[in-house]
Amino acid sequence: VIDAGHGGVDPGATGVTGTLEKDVVLGVAQSLAAELRNSGRFKVYMTRDSDIFLSLKARVALGRKYRADLFISIHADAAPASGARGASVYTLSEQASDREAEALASAENQSDIIAGVDLRKEPDIVTSILIDLAQRETKNNSAKLAQLLIPELQRVGNLTHKTHRFAGFRVLKAPDVPSVLIEVGYLTNQSDESSMRSGRWRRGMATAIGRAVDSYFRRIRRE
Ligand code: ZN
Repeated sequence: VIDAGHGGVDPGATGVTGTLEKDVVLGVAQSLAAELRNSGRFKVYMTRDSDIFLSLKARVALGRKYRADLFISIHADAAPASGARGASVYTLSEQASDREAEALASAENQSDIIAGVDLRKEPDIVTSILIDLAQRETKNNSAKLAQLLIPELQRVGNLTHKTHRFAGFRVLKAPDVPSVLIEVGYLTNQSDESSMRSGRWRRGMATAIGRAVDSYFRRIRRE
């Protein structure tokens, strides 16, 4: 599942010359979807394929509804300093996933935490162990994809200093769907913004992400 960030009334970040994040990320997401579909090896869904608003919760819900093997959220960054540039990849932080596990475990409806596993009749301790195991595998796989993305992204342009980052982004929180959030560059940096305006650059970015996705599934299958 490919998730183009923002959309509709939420434009996301605005670039130095007025480029909107929601447009850049939709362009990259559409190219990535086309690329993966053309390979004939992937079933691809997009959380949005047009300029519409979607809540973060709805995006995660779509990933789980389609039983995604991977959830890739695409964004573009902004920073107060115009010098900040390059791409980065986020996966869910340990603290955020712990908090999420607690919240999930204490939620009333436990029928839908891990796809296909009914936890309602399980004692709390079993529930929390099962969630923990699912999350651990998800986290490992998310990190695998992040590591495969870095060299591919590097071929397209700059990377931020610490490329693989950890955060509590809501869209990364499905416990059973490996998820990454890619910031393709900084709209607040003149050179990055000018790249992002180019259709050719967006397609190059999509090709890079597509290659990492391909390597990811080959590796998962081998393992
Ligand atoms: Zn964003």
